[in-house]
Amino acid sequence: MKRILVLGGGIGGVEAAISLAKEFKKKSGYSIELISDKSTLFIYPLSIWIPVGKRTPQDISMPLDEIAKLRGFQFRQEKVERILSKENKVITDKGEHQYDYLVVAMGGDKMRPKGIEHTLSVCGGGEESLKIRDRFYELIKNGGGTIACGFSGNPKDKTGVRGGPVFEVLFNIDFYLREKNVRDKFKLVFFSPSQEAGKRLGGPGLKALQGLFMQRQIEPIFGKKITAFQPNGILFEDGHLLETNLTLFTPGMNGHPVFKNTDLPLTEAGFIPINDFCQADPMDDSCHFEDIDNCYVIGDSTYFAGPEWRAKQGHLAEAMARVVARNIFLKESGQIQTETFSEHLNILCVMDLGKEAAFIFRDDKRAMAPIGAWAHWAKVAWEKYYKLNKRGKLPNAPL
Ligand SMILES: Cc1cc2nc3c(=O)[nH]c(=O)nc-3n(C[C@H](O)[C@H](O)[C@H](O)COP(=O)(O)OP(=O)(O)OC[C@H]3O[C@@H](n4cnc5c(N)ncnc54)[C@H](O)[C@@H]3O)c2cc1C
Repeated sequence: MKRILVLGGGIGGVEAAISLAKEFKKKSGYSIELISDKSTLFIYPLSIWIPVGKRTPQDISMPLDEIAKLRGFQFRQEKVERILSKENKVITDKGEHQYDYLVVAMGGDKMRPKGIEHTLSVCGGGEESLKIRDRFYELIKNGGGTIACGFSGNPKDKTGVRGGPVFEVLFNIDFYLREKNVRDKFKLVFFSPSQEAGKRLGGPGLKALQGLFMQRQIEPIFGKKITAFQPNGILFEDGHLLETNLTLFTPGMNGHPVFKNTDLPLTEAGFIPINDFCQADPMDDSCHFEDIDNCYVIGDSTYFAGPEWRAKQGHLAEAMARVVARNIFLKESGQIQTETFSEHLNILCVMDLGKEAAFIFRDDKRAMAPIGAWAHWAKVAWEKYYKLNKRGKLPNAPL
């Protein structure tokens, strides 16, 4: 029996296990196993609605054992501690696993700037998003205040940034306050140490963003370096203290800390570099990674070359997952792998604004950012599609 191990039960890992199970359905002698530290798949793109009470973490979590049963793979709840690719071995908190092929999809980690404990992030998962909701509701009860939302990147890797959800939470907070007729009791601020925050959305996306800040009276602070977060606000490098009642901040992304306990090639920011087939690949001769070709990496765990505006996104993680499943199947069928992920490279982001949304698309040829209620409903429809699709009740939409 040949063993294909997928590490990480997030957007990329679940799609990889499903696609592998599909590819190998008619080929006997293969076992597809997904190892994840949590029992559920958390659908991050929908978590932007937790802070305004439109969803709970339960609403947007799917049990992995149920998906595994429906889609024909095995699930083990274990925490990965080491990966030894030269020995084809993964070590978890519960034991060791040998493999024939490995797919790493364990996501990334957040940087920790000074005073980060005085902030909350929507990218911190269900519990942290609930804390945002509770603090937000408390402020409304107490009669108002200042809420600042911001994000920063990783200076060592321009793809280590997550800005879209920060804008979505900010605009949803604004919308919620207007619906409750208490917007005038609040000051809303957007901040980023970068002068170019939002630039990767493309010209139309950036213009839409600037227009929305104006329309909704959100004060933007661009290009001001942060010295530290404090319990009462944000201290900037120029000595200015922005007093806040709630600071929401998403720092730049680093590679997953477990990757330091592996023999895989790593970039300076700790991501695993990959080639166009999604195989771990040092990309240059600086790293002595032997010719290991059975180790694939997808989603937020990766570093990949590409245009300046490229970004780590959920739909790309899914595209990479399908590419990997096909390539492993081709190799096991005695053919050469042909599937590449670079043709799926684009920015596709439905940035929700409350009752409408901006549909932001960018690739090498086009950039657009139309806004409308239809885009909000498209995001709501995507939630239904995604859940049914993972259960095998709807076919894959093209990526
Ligand atoms: C708030 C938010 C909103 C977003 N909105 C969008 C959007 O609208 N559109 C879009 O395309 N993208 C969006 N993204 C980005 C998208 O969610 C990510 O790119 C995507 O989740 C990456 O998938 P992944 O499988 O690589 O990582 P993840 O989804 O982070 O999954 C990693 C998995 O690995 C598991 N894991 C971690 N450590 C271990 C360990 N030691 N052992 C075992 N398992 C482990 C985790 O539990 C998790 O299941 C958003 C992200 C956030 C945070």
